[in-house]
Amino acid sequence: MAARPIRVTVWHEFRHEKKHERVRSVYPDGMHVVMKQGIEKNLGNAVKVRTATLDEPQHGLTDEVLADTDVLTWWGHAAHGEVQDAIVDKVQQRVLEGMGLIVLHSGHYSKIFRKLMGTGCGLRWREQAEREILWCVNPGHPIADGLNDEKFELAHTEMYGELFDIPTPDELIFISWFEGGEVFRSGCTWTRGKGKVFYFRPGHETFPIYYDANVQRVLANGVKWAAPSSSTAYAGGGRNITTPLAPIASSHVVDPSLHKH
Ligand code: ZN
Repeated sequence: MAARPIRVTVWHEFRHEKKHERVRSVYPDGMHVVMKQGIEKNLGNAVKVRTATLDEPQHGLTDEVLADTDVLTWWGHAAHGEVQDAIVDKVQQRVLEGMGLIVLHSGHYSKIFRKLMGTGCGLRWREQAEREILWCVNPGHPIADGLNDEKFELAHTEMYGELFDIPTPDELIFISWFEGGEVFRSGCTWTRGKGKVFYFRPGHETFPIYYDANVQRVLANGVKWAAPSSSTAYAGGGRNITTPLAPIASSHVVDPSLHKH
C-alpha cells in the first residue's frame, strides 16, 4: 500500500434531493456529502475524498479526475440512462487498469455495474420500511473489519430480494434478512482486470442509512480494500506477438492477410 492517501471520488446522481422534500429532509446537502464524511471519519488522513455528480460537466468524471482516482463509489437510481456511454467506457477502462469501484444500493442497475458484470443485475424490491439484518458470512474479510458483532441491523429499509442476477461473487461478505421473509446477497466482491469491485446494498434515499456507523464503517473498509494494491501496468490489452519467446521448429505457412485486425 502506497504511503500517500487513497484518492477517493464519491459519485452521486444527486437528483432525488433536488426534487423531493422528503429526501432533502434526510440528506439536506446530498447523500454524497454524508458518504464523504463517513469515509473521512473512519479513515482520516489515509484518504483524500472528493465528490462528483451527474449534472456536472462530464458528470464530474473528467479524464483528470478519473486518472486521479484510486477508488470510485457509485450511487445512482432514477437517471442511469443519462450517464453518457463514453464516460462509462472510461470508468470501465480505469477499473481494468486497477481503479477500485464500490457500487451502492440502486447502483445495481447502473450502466457501469451491468457492463462490468455482464448479467442483467435485476432483483426484487419492496418499499415498506422493513427491518433488515445484515449477517456477516466472512468475518475475516477486511471489509468486515471492526464490526462488533456477527450481524448489524437497520431499522427501516427498502427490501431487496433474490434472485439478484449477478455473476457468482468471488467473495460473499454479507447476506441480508428482511422482515418480510426475503434474503439478499448484500456484500459481494469481484475483480475485473486489475480492479476490485464491491457491491454493498444499503442506502435507500428516504432512510438515513448513510449516517449509520456500521454502514459507514463498511463503506470505509471497502475503500481500503478496493484501493489498488499493485503499481504494475495493466497487461490485459491484446497485442500481436511477432517474435516468439522460443524458436519455432516448423510453422504452417499462413496467409498474413487472414490475421489482419
Ligand atoms: Zn432504493
